[in-house]
Amino acid sequence: MPLQPVLAMNRQEYNFAHRANEDGTIDSICRECFATVATSQWEADLEKAEQAHVCDPAELERFHSVHEK
Ligand SMILES: [Zn+2]
Repeated sequence: MPLQPVLAMNRQEYNFAHRANEDGTIDSICRECFATVATSQWEADLEKAEQAHVCDPAELERFHSVHEK
């Protein structure tokens, strides 16, 4: 896989959970905002989506407000 220096330099340290689906695809779920970032058969596709992912502050706030009630 070719390296992409710009992405690598700017890469943020997010954590993503990978969940295998029965149809052979894998869900990538952001551990911060619990958004499903990508669904793919290929880890490389998940990694690309993960590198492009930025948590939505509105989603984070909604998530935390739900859990504080
Ligand atoms: Zn996120």
